[in-house]
Amino acid sequence: RMKTQGGDGFRFYTAAMGEKASQRLSLESQLRKAVDNGEFILFHQPKVSIPERRIVGMESLIRWRLPDGSMVSPGAFIPLAEETGLIAPMGEWVLQTACRDAQALNEAGFGPLHVAVNLSGRQFQHGDIAKFVDATLSQTRLSPKRLELEITESIVMRDVEKAIGVMNQFKEMGAGIAVDDFGTGYSSLSYLKRFPLSTLKIDRAFVMGVGQGEGDEAIILAILGLARSLGLKVVAEGVEDWTQASFLQQQHCDMIQGFLFSKPLPFDELKALLEQDRQSGGLPGPEKES
Ligand code: C2E
Ligand code: MG
Ligand code: MG
Ligand code: MG
Repeated sequence: RMKTQGGDGFRFYTAAMGEKASQRLSLESQLRKAVDNGEFILFHQPKVSIPERRIVGMESLIRWRLPDGSMVSPGAFIPLAEETGLIAPMGEWVLQTACRDAQALNEAGFGPLHVAVNLSGRQFQHGDIAKFVDATLSQTRLSPKRLELEITESIVMRDVEKAIGVMNQFKEMGAGIAVDDFGTGYSSLSYLKRFPLSTLKIDRAFVMGVGQGEGDEAIILAILGLARSLGLKVVAEGVEDWTQASFLQQQHCDMIQGFLFSKPLPFDELKALLEQDRQSGGLPGPEKES
């Protein structure tokens, strides 16, 4: 800072820093306004059971709809929302909306569908998350067994004892717990048996490697074996083609989620897909390549 009078390189550097800081500030104030004005919408991505190919649930994923109608994906604002604490009101809105949407679909006869909601580190650290989940379930009348909370290994590993306490509260109320992006974090396998989990989600990075050599397939088999011996369900994320889906089906993965069946959809489009699924008795199978 003392060297502001110095060479051009340094002046350039400070200018760039200033620009970055002001960009951040403006994103932060936009985000604050978005929270106040309710500019978020919730998309839902179907989870499909295999081999049945029925929609059995969904993962709810937040989107930010800008005044011009364009969508911002969560990767661009969740980290800042975490840093600024805005994740708290956003996360509450997500949980309430996800439970309300799932219950509406179940009441419309599409169920029983379960819904999965991502929790951020900050939400998870916050003491009242279990209480809030409980209150939301009562308000929306969604059965606790239809709700799953998705957490990552890094969230849990930040404070293992605290995390186990919160997870046990979820379990006591009857909700499920999934480890998201499983295999990409740094959790110790020995902890797994102490966590009251219901599901492991195989990260897209491993699914992408199916049919591309042995490494990723070996990891998937190890995860499936581990899940089986611990009595957990497995969802594979980011399934984009039938090579991946067939491999996962052969290896007895329970559910798949990915663009192959559906992208995350607005509520009405999900409802239309469920209608189609109900009428045709399942989603289509592999396309024959000629
Ligand atoms: P995630 O929980 O692992 O969610 C899966 C992400 O993979 C989603 O990205 C989804 O759109 C994307 N995806 C699903 N299938 C495919 C596929 O076949 N191919 C490809 N290329 N991508 C696929 P999205 O919606 O952009 O969300 C990114 C991350 O943001 C999520 O990862 C989650 O960590 C976080 N996130 C999303 N919504 C929320 C939320 O409401 N609260 C919190 N705390 N985090 C959220
Ligand atoms: Mg997730
Ligand atoms: Mg994931
Ligand atoms: Mg992922």
